[in-house]
Amino acid sequence: SAEDLTRARDLVAASRRIVAMTGAGISTDSGIPDFRGPNGVWTKDPAAEKLSNLQAYVSSKEVREQSWRNRTGHPAWQARPNAAHQAFVDLERTGRLSAIITQNIDELHQKAGSDPDLVIELHGTMFQTVCLDCDDRRDMQEALARVRAGETDPPCSECGGILKSATISFGQALDVDVLERARVAAVSCDLMLVAGSSLTVHPAAGLVGLAASAGAAVIVCNASPTPYDDQAAVVLRGPLAEVLPALV
Ligand code: NAD
Ligand code: ZN
Repeated sequence: SAEDLTRARDLVAASRRIVAMTGAGISTDSGIPDFRGPNGVWTKDPAAEKLSNLQAYVSSKEVREQSWRNRTGHPAWQARPNAAHQAFVDLERTGRLSAIITQNIDELHQKAGSDPDLVIELHGTMFQTVCLDCDDRRDMQEALARVRAGETDPPCSECGGILKSATISFGQALDVDVLERARVAAVSCDLMLVAGSSLTVHPAAGLVGLAASAGAAVIVCNASPTPYDDQAAVVLRGPLAEVLPALV
């Protein structure tokens, strides 16, 4: 409602150390489907969930081949940031945004112009590969070129190990330093602004509870309900490309 929007705007205006927590919903208007929204990848094909599971990836060549096939045509390679990403650039210019904790792997915050040092990529980036054996990191385009040239499951060029996108799959631990940075940001903010996340993936979602326990106000901007709506001062359901610019 207009009243909720006004309350949220007042809260944003009164806050000095805002931390954003973003999820796949902020990039749907850039043409990248989320997982659990109405047009989500898993909503449409629940079997696709196993492609995001580390154990399945490591143990099954078939899963890896399917993953690589999906990667080559992924909408993220062409995607442009939208008005919702831009809103965080505008908020940063006011000097009151201390971090963007994102569950996204699409680098659209950085492409929009957010300071890369403020962006905490909890779940990594799909623009790099990592070798699961020797940790060698490379540009994703290198692996994709090999796939396009006919390799169905390109091994690590250094050691022959299993190559994977540098993203966090289910069953895979988050980078400890990245998670620690996110925790520090969460406990030291005065407002946590959630945008486009179902807040069902942990430990990411738990950072919202952590911020609230440490005394931060919470605003949830998400089309569908989240488990943290009860702890939010305001919940806004509208489309993010409209809601976020209106907030900042
Ligand atoms: P999710 O799919 O669980 O939730 C997205 C939420 O956004 C949904 O609740 C949906 O209702 C809402 N939403 C979608 N479009 C919206 C819009 N235009 N306006 C307002 N709300 C909108 O996503 P999640 O919580 O980020 O968790 C999914 C996991 O999948 C994350 O770990 C992430 O790493 C990964 N993922 C990333 C991308 C990406 O990088 N763009 C895309 C898909 C999945
Ligand atoms: Zn290797």
